[in-house]
Amino acid sequence: MRIKKDDVVEFQLPVHDDVLFGKGDIISVRSKIHIYVNGKSLCGKYYMVPKQYETTDIGKEALFPHPEYFCKVCRQRYLRG
Ligand SMILES: [Zn+2]
Repeated sequence: MRIKKDDVVEFQLPVHDDVLFGKGDIISVRSKIHIYVNGKSLCGKYYMVPKQYETTDIGKEALFPHPEYFCKVCRQRYLRG
């Protein structure tokens, strides 16, 4: 999958995650951040409405220092472009 310039790219936890209910400390949650392009995660496991949720402050600046925050498949596919 190619990411195009006008695609909506978002870094989000799966929306059912506890972080939505105010328990979220991003470092301790078990689930990984998935990378969504136009509402579909790159790993193909999750869908969401683009721009509907803001589940994390973590974005692409964390891809290299903190690979453990991310879904492995999403991260690899994102980096491959
Ligand atoms: Zn993923």
